Amino acid sequence: MSLKLKIALYNTLLVGIIVALVLAFMMSNSDFAIESTTKNQLMNTVHENAEEVEWDDGELELDDIKFYSNHITTLVYSHDGYLLEGYISNLEDFIQPLLDGEVTNVDIDGVNYLIYDYFVSSNRYDGVYIRGIVSSVEAFDIVRLLFSITVIALPVFILLAGIGSYIISKKSMKPLDKIVDTAHEISNGDELSRRIDLGVGNDEIHNLANTFDDMFAKLEQAFLSEKQFSSDVSHELRTPIAVILAECECNLKDEICEQDRIEALKTIQSQGKKMQHLITALLNLIRLDNGVYKMNIEAVDISELIAIVCEEQETLLPSDRKLITDLQEQLICNIDYSMIIRVISNLIDNGIKYGKNNGFVKISLKDQGETVLVTVEDNGIGIQNEHLEKIFNRFYQVDTARTSDTSNSMGLGLSMVAQIIKLHNGTINVESEKNVGSKFFITLPKNI
Ligand code: ADP
Repeated sequence: MSLKLKIALYNTLLVGIIVALVLAFMMSNSDFAIESTTKNQLMNTVHENAEEVEWDDGELELDDIKFYSNHITTLVYSHDGYLLEGYISNLEDFIQPLLDGEVTNVDIDGVNYLIYDYFVSSNRYDGVYIRGIVSSVEAFDIVRLLFSITVIALPVFILLAGIGSYIISKKSMKPLDKIVDTAHEISNGDELSRRIDLGVGNDEIHNLANTFDDMFAKLEQAFLSEKQFSSDVSHELRTPIAVILAECECNLKDEICEQDRIEALKTIQSQGKKMQHLITALLNLIRLDNGVYKMNIEAVDISELIAIVCEEQETLLPSDRKLITDLQEQLICNIDYSMIIRVISNLIDNGIKYGKNNGFVKISLKDQGETVLVTVEDNGIGIQNEHLEKIFNRFYQVDTARTSDTSNSMGLGLSMVAQIIKLHNGTINVESEKNVGSKFFITLPKNI
């Protein structure tokens, strides 16, 4: 059974139950309501008539009394109980004693009557009783009629409620059909670019559709970058493998001299190293991505850590380069020691690799309260604006010709740096100008 039909059925059932309850409540209270209304009307009529009683020279005048009004019959009795005026067909049945100010309830031949007596006194003459009598039969008849009409109309109401509810739920479920259709289209083919696109709205279904659209966008992005990643990896591996195979083929020929054989072996070794670096870098990145790598966060004197990395880098520095440090001392940060070493070494390494002859790399560290700011600056070849955003992408290299001979340049360094900074809840940005130099800014929170 569809959800729309289920909602319609539940709503109909609910309406049916509510209507039945209201009806039962009305029925159980109607007797009481009718009785009290009738009682009030009876007393009012009797009081109005009592005001019309007058004596003129000892003679009782009852001309202005309404003896029958609003289904109420009025009788006037003397103070000692004789009927003076008024008529009712079955008078002998109303022999109840006259009780001033009291309403009595009597059943006569199965009909319910209310009787109200009121004594009108006079200073000079004997007083009289005004008796009002009313049957509640007529009022009950109206209620019974109403009840019968309601009972007949009830199924019609419930049916209308059911149809209305079905139409409303069908209309409000329409966007859900769109969500289902889109999800089907995406799962059946490779239409990852499809979106539900429900438009503007702030209800639950719009929120659901927007969440799905965001999820589809992320899935598409992940799928595309996965595709890109696989093609990049195979491309990076294909070149060294092709070189190794070509060298092997040449060497297997008998006429090759010893010198050429050694050269070939050196080439094979360098290509092998390149592949080894690539695989190590890839494994590191994948571990970071998957969350397989368990971060070992501890309080570290980051000033000291950077100073040690710089000392090590200095030993590898070409003679015409300078490594300048400007480190604020004793700054403590909660970081993964070995990962931050990788970040700093990578940035210094790049500063040297993409630097100019007689150039410098400057690393500075500043306290910023809740965070520390690390900057790595060089006056090297710089990066053109159009490449700036992409340098953190995997395998992205601005100029492959410059690094093709170095086995550890594969365009993976900065993406690993960015990933490590992200895991530390930090940020990394870069400013650069072609032929002027580059400056990388890293902000790390002191407490993750
Ligand atoms: P690579 O292994 O090629 O150095 P990275 O991910 O470290 O890979 O850097 C990506 C690219 O960004 C580099 O190929 C280079 O073109 C550019 N780049 C990175 N650092 C610098 C820098 N300090 N100066 C100029 N270009 C840089």
